[in-house]
Amino acid sequence: MKSFFYQNGYQDAQDELPINSDNPHYIEGYADFQEGKSERYESIPKVSDPVQLSLFDFDVIESETYEIFLDMDGVIVDLALELQTQMNKILSTSNKYSKKFWKKHPDFQLNTIDTSYLKEIFIAKDLGIPLAKSQKDIRRLTYKPLAKNLNLWAKLPIYKGASDFVKYLLSQWKVTILSAPIDTESIKGKELWLDINFPELENRLFESEKFIYAHPRGILIDDRPKNIALWQEHGGIAILHDGDFSRTIEQLNNIINKK
Ligand SMILES: [Mg+2]
Repeated sequence: MKSFFYQNGYQDAQDELPINSDNPHYIEGYADFQEGKSERYESIPKVSDPVQLSLFDFDVIESETYEIFLDMDGVIVDLALELQTQMNKILSTSNKYSKKFWKKHPDFQLNTIDTSYLKEIFIAKDLGIPLAKSQKDIRRLTYKPLAKNLNLWAKLPIYKGASDFVKYLLSQWKVTILSAPIDTESIKGKELWLDINFPELENRLFESEKFIYAHPRGILIDDRPKNIALWQEHGGIAILHDGDFSRTIEQLNNIINKK
């Protein structure tokens, strides 16, 4: 647990993100990067293989019911699509961010930035895969339009098929939204998004450290390998959603029906 916070702090400092936790281990990690101390960070094992993270090795107690914890961004909310638009807007107009970016990366091809590029740079971070300087700069830039922007969060596009997927989940299990906010405006925006798109999803948790809710009958559906790994480490069951709802439902049924 200590190393989770430490690692997050270290990586945030590395990515030049502002301090966003008052956890002492986080602060320690943040300070170590700034002071150039990398030994402890490097000694922490990284999540290396998303395929191996997945599931099925659980003792199932059949009499109890399961609870689904459902991520929003990358599962039912198409954040990557909006970020693609926002990044193109920022980098194709003249502003302080685009000036700085193009000065550093004059040969970068703007059309490289599509939804899969954006998903990849976020997942690479989870897996400890090093990013190119331009990818790091793009990732940092994605926070600009997202910060203090209730309206953006409230109006994000919904994935095709998400509605049927949620309906199916609700017909079978208790479903709780578990989404990581970036600030208080994003929480208000996410609430609004849910009120518009899924008012029937009434159980809602907004928490970056999702694993604190993990339990042996709790199934997390999430698109980030790091959340999956931490959830499993804390005794929960998790499914890495890759964008295909039918595959996720199949995995869910395999878990539930396991004898
Ligand atoms: Mg997500």
